[in-house]
Amino acid sequence: MALSGLDIFKLLPKTNCGDCNVPTCMAFAMKLAQKKADLSECPHASEEAKVTLGAASEPPIRLVKIGGTNALEVGNETVMFRHEKTFFHPTGVAIELRTSEGEEKLLSKIKEIEGYNVERVGEELSADLFFISHDSKNKEDFLKTVVLAKENSAKGIILDCSDEEILREGIELLKDTCPAVLLKNELSDKNIELTQNSDVSLILTAKSYDDLAKQTEKARNSGVNNLILNLENQNIGNQLQHNAILRRSALKKYFKPFGYPLFTYIHAESELDMLARASALLCKYDSIIVLPKYDKAMLYTLFTLRQNIYTDPQKPIQVDPKVYPIGEPTPESPVFVTTNFSLTYFIVSGEIENSGISAHLVVADAEGQSVLTAWAAGKFVGETIAKFIKDIKLEQQVKTRKIVIPGLVSQISGDLEDNLPGWEVIVGCQEASDIPSFVKSVKLT
Ligand code: SF4
Repeated sequence: MALSGLDIFKLLPKTNCGDCNVPTCMAFAMKLAQKKADLSECPHASEEAKVTLGAASEPPIRLVKIGGTNALEVGNETVMFRHEKTFFHPTGVAIELRTSEGEEKLLSKIKEIEGYNVERVGEELSADLFFISHDSKNKEDFLKTVVLAKENSAKGIILDCSDEEILREGIELLKDTCPAVLLKNELSDKNIELTQNSDVSLILTAKSYDDLAKQTEKARNSGVNNLILNLENQNIGNQLQHNAILRRSALKKYFKPFGYPLFTYIHAESELDMLARASALLCKYDSIIVLPKYDKAMLYTLFTLRQNIYTDPQKPIQVDPKVYPIGEPTPESPVFVTTNFSLTYFIVSGEIENSGISAHLVVADAEGQSVLTAWAAGKFVGETIAKFIKDIKLEQQVKTRKIVIPGLVSQISGDLEDNLPGWEVIVGCQEASDIPSFVKSVKLT
């Protein structure tokens, strides 16, 4: 049963010392009750409080790790909807390796997946896990695939093998790298014994809520807590509903048996179907999705979606405010100015690069807002841009005295010229995609 803020307050020291970065013990108690703080943030909590509040301060959805160095972390979410706070741990994308594929094909596939990294808005994006499914009859195929994946990649590994003895050997090969094991049948005592006192996570498969709760309770009572839930579903609509119910039960009802990350192997009839299902489940609330097929276009689409869902809506993604060289600029090269909203920076810098010229791109501090938003908030106006340019001593770095501003804020040109004596302000194009034609039509130096 969840404790109320008042119940929790009674157990705190009530000194209002503020060491938890919250002004009062009552305020801290309310944060604890809402799962927005951790008891460890109060350095003065008594042992009695730690024991009593231990369960109350446990995250409603357990954090589970898969992999060695740079392990994938999933779970530990606290809200149903991203705008309520943020989603913390992005959905892990796993690619299936079938043991029947043969050593040569598997090795080249593993290397290709390992080498597939894309940079988008300043982040490196790549697949997170391998899902090894044992579909050949040969034990050696399974063990060889595990070794190939381990030796040629640092990604975490999920094992899918119905033979417990072979599975045991596979787990042994992966010790110290926190693998996960998909159980397709009901959790057995042997499964528990296999994973007790180890870093192996168990993915429990069930056909109903009752069945799932029964299995998680059995695992928890045996001390096995690194669990991931795989509730079988008839169709995608059914699954989205189940996912929402499981998440709501964990977050709103504090129902511990459902307080674990969710898993899905994507069964699909076509690539488009696979992408549609994966996208829907990434939004609603899967922590791990397994793709039976490796396809770069599909991965890039999912990464883009994932990046949008899992950024903190209260913190605009921003780049450092400073002067960025595009190409190999000289002191005579033209100067462009924009805001430090990541997407704006990457689009503008990319288009200047596409235009084939070298330039200085002044990225002014606009608290991560886009051009028009920053202008409307008074963060990207003549006075603030001029002050930034003086602060970074741009006049000592360049000889040109022409500066191009975004066409969307042409109205600041006079203000900027007033605040930057000696500079000519050129109003640029409204759309970044027009930069290549703009630089050809205007004399910038
Ligand atoms: S650190 Fe502990 S004692 Fe101090 S204000 Fe926070 S909850 Fe109260």
